[in-house]
Amino acid sequence: PSEEVINFSPGPTSLPKDVEAQIAASFNKPGFTSLSLSHRAPEFLAILEHAIATARAVMEIPEEYEVLFTHGGGHGQFAALPLNLCTDMSDIATYVVNGTWSARGRDEASRYCDVHTIDGSDPETGLFTHFPELTESNVHTDSKYVYFCSNETVNGVELHRLPSLPESLKHIPLVVDASSDFTTKPIDWRGSGVGILFACASKNIGHPGLTITVVRKDLLGKASPLCPGIFNYTTNSEAGNLWNTPATFNIEVVGMVMDWLLKEGGVHECERRSIAKSEALYKVIDHSNGFYGTPVNNKVLRSRMNVPFNIAGGDDALTNKFLIESWDKGMVGLRTLTPFGVGDYLRASLYNGVTVEEANKLAAFMTRFQIEND
Ligand code: PMP
Repeated sequence: PSEEVINFSPGPTSLPKDVEAQIAASFNKPGFTSLSLSHRAPEFLAILEHAIATARAVMEIPEEYEVLFTHGGGHGQFAALPLNLCTDMSDIATYVVNGTWSARGRDEASRYCDVHTIDGSDPETGLFTHFPELTESNVHTDSKYVYFCSNETVNGVELHRLPSLPESLKHIPLVVDASSDFTTKPIDWRGSGVGILFACASKNIGHPGLTITVVRKDLLGKASPLCPGIFNYTTNSEAGNLWNTPATFNIEVVGMVMDWLLKEGGVHECERRSIAKSEALYKVIDHSNGFYGTPVNNKVLRSRMNVPFNIAGGDDALTNKFLIESWDKGMVGLRTLTPFGVGDYLRASLYNGVTVEEANKLAAFMTRFQIEND
């Protein structure tokens, strides 16, 4: 196999090489990394402030939003959201379900509030390849919030810009699961009416377990009395992210990734690269006369983060050959099992840790593989 490893894993995955080198170097300061500092030590407070300030700078987060580092990954937020925004089971929340992760978020929320579901599957095929328009007729007027996922990691459907609600419903806050696309495109926080946006760290900005949760301050103080303190945005905001021991090292890594993003040109440059990386692959797929297939035909909704593709309609022998030969070239993470059993698609994930050059290598490999096997 190749010496070089190119990691196309859907997450957790590799971080940019410069950041990984910085992490490795930090272990050469025994006793002085964030793993061995009290979370209340001034040295850690500086690390925490830095992670927040750089995240704010990269994503242009306005001052009326609080930046929290929360526990329990994306699933922690699936539960924390209704527990923070609904007082009891009679409170309504609208969920757009157009993929596997929004379905999971909806299912978890339904344990804590009265969920109103907008079926976001394609009306003709019933498949998750679509995103519905949000209208007065499908959004419940009494919703405490409207929830959706801006990049469905498994299905390969992405909103390249956030949708907004019709004028008459603009008072309802949007809640966005941006776990797999955070930092790869700008967010119009005020214009889109974002109330809360969360991203588990393990794709674009760090390591598993930690989640960045951005909360508009007027939504604090609305939690159910049953909301555990560890999930309570108000408690954690009042304690400056130090209500309990936060995931100190993971937070330091987020700061390193944010520094790297700023140095590389910020979120606009990141978006430019994401377009270049994903287009390299979609171009090969679209020009393959059906040798490669991808489920999302509507190009406007194709994910730049996760490119699902199959080979000769999902042919087992050719798919395995593809995986063995690409693995020999150091390309890993293309086949992953999900808890959702979503068929024979391979998936190339193109987070911040994958360079444009590396995506081009996969595209070139795919082209050659087709010539040799079609
Ligand atoms: N939301 C999205 C969009 C995801 O891709 C994932 C993880 N793959 C999650 C939520 C769940 O995150 P976690 O595993 O950290 O709970």
